[in-house]
Amino acid sequence: MHPPGTYYKASGRFDPKRLAIFTLVGVLFAVFIGWLYYILCRINPITHLNFIVLGLAMFACICAFSIIIYESQSRHIKLNTVILVLLCYLTWSSQWAFFNLRWHYGYSFWGGLLNPLTTLKIINARGDEIDMGRFPFGGGFQYLLYIAELAGFMLSVKWITASKDYFCEDCRQFYTHQHSHLLETEMENFYLLKEMEGEDHQYRFLPQLVFVKKLAPVYVERKPVMKVTLYYCAKCHENNIVSVSSCMQELDSNNRLQTTLIKEEPITVGMYVAKATADALHRKFI
Ligand SMILES: [Zn+2]
Repeated sequence: MHPPGTYYKASGRFDPKRLAIFTLVGVLFAVFIGWLYYILCRINPITHLNFIVLGLAMFACICAFSIIIYESQSRHIKLNTVILVLLCYLTWSSQWAFFNLRWHYGYSFWGGLLNPLTTLKIINARGDEIDMGRFPFGGGFQYLLYIAELAGFMLSVKWITASKDYFCEDCRQFYTHQHSHLLETEMENFYLLKEMEGEDHQYRFLPQLVFVKKLAPVYVERKPVMKVTLYYCAKCHENNIVSVSSCMQELDSNNRLQTTLIKEEPITVGMYVAKATADALHRKFI
């Protein structure tokens, strides 16, 4: 039982067998995305303007590896980061391994995939080829692009690790969540009550506030909105977590009933609340 007012901390636990299996599936995904990237790069006629293709590949990495990490159920943040770096690296190196096969550079596929030195040799061979005058700008420029490309893939790691997934150690499953909003006038009450309750407020006052589940579009000016998210284990409903952030609601300029929230600034991230508070919020948020 986690005392209300304290914060969620990943336990660092993981099931080695489960993690190993999902890492291997991740490697297959990495090679597959690398292959798709290689195919798209070949089709794309403007070799040095591959940024759109790179963006697509990064998006594929983020989607695929987020699922891998989620399904592996590993709560070991550092280990997850290492695995993600490895998977994103393999996505990048596998496209070079495929290029190596296509251009008959003579290195082995596995070497190109797994051995960074071989990958560098493939890149070098490719660089020499471009220098032979097929493109107007050779020299060191393309190496810079290859590094930018690797950096792009590594950037996906940051995106994936930024996701907030809470895990119930008792039931061995991830939390589900619900959220609702406080409008401008109610935000004043939020700050007032928070002030009155003092340091150890544990968000006991939240159920007193009036929440708006579905926002109405705004047309004249952006409006401040507060977002309150309740995270709970759907199985045991113990150890409930609350996160609060302030946002701005963007104008619905296209008249599509859009209520997009921007400029999200966290106020509280992952605080355990008392069961009574969570139950009351749960009823309000439905
Ligand atoms: Zn549970």
